[in-house]
Amino acid sequence: MEFLGLVSGTALVLGAILMVVGVALATLTVMGIALTLLFFRTRQIIIPSVTLFILTLLEAPIRYLLWVFGVEEDIVSRMVIEIRNILYRDRFERTPYDQRAMFIPQCLRSPSCPAPLTPEGIRCLNCGKCGIGGIKEEAESLGYQVFISPGSSLVKRMVKKYRPKAVLGVGCPMEVKEGTAKMASYGLPVQGVLLERDGCVDTRIEVTRLLEKVKSAYIGHKHYKIEEDQESMAKALRISSLWGENKPSHVEVLSARKSADRVKW
Ligand code: SF4
Repeated sequence: MEFLGLVSGTALVLGAILMVVGVALATLTVMGIALTLLFFRTRQIIIPSVTLFILTLLEAPIRYLLWVFGVEEDIVSRMVIEIRNILYRDRFERTPYDQRAMFIPQCLRSPSCPAPLTPEGIRCLNCGKCGIGGIKEEAESLGYQVFISPGSSLVKRMVKKYRPKAVLGVGCPMEVKEGTAKMASYGLPVQGVLLERDGCVDTRIEVTRLLEKVKSAYIGHKHYKIEEDQESMAKALRISSLWGENKPSHVEVLSARKSADRVKW
């Protein structure tokens, strides 16, 4: 009798604990959805570290509910990237250029890119068929190590090999979200820049935004702004135009897309 009482008492306590945990998770999920919708409408993030905690803990149910309500799920990845950009911006900007590494996805290449694949990524020949050569040249002139990456495993390998003190990554929302999480887990200040047009092949990047991030630093106690740097603005526009002028044919895009499908990212 006493044993049965003990069992039912334990069950009651466990039930109460489960209920409290369930209510807490449901409340956090609702908060996560509300914060995501706020970001969706206003691009504002309230208490970034708390929001990041909620989104990391409850990403799956939040994504699912947003999908049910017809909101694009990518918004969660975009928000997580934005939060990490805010949280790590100061440390990234205080890291000298020559201690930073940048990873550019291979999908930005021209479909007729002649660059070979090497153990350290694609070796750009700066042929002028896309803007990667110009971006790489600009970043390397500052001291960056630049890699054109065929997949996320290269990023981890190069970071372990060269030990940069800060990392800048370019890619689609899912890729950048996962990459920035990995770099953050290594304790590295990380910044992410999203592709303007993603899709694995013949993608595009807003070069002004990317160069602004590449050059970001405290200059005279001010954040670097590319609008105040006419020379870099002109360079960014020149680099951008390379993608426009060398737009590949439909056949080239299709055949490159087929080969990209064969590459495991
Ligand atoms: S500039 Fe672009 S297309 Fe030319 S080699 Fe470099 S990555 Fe390839």
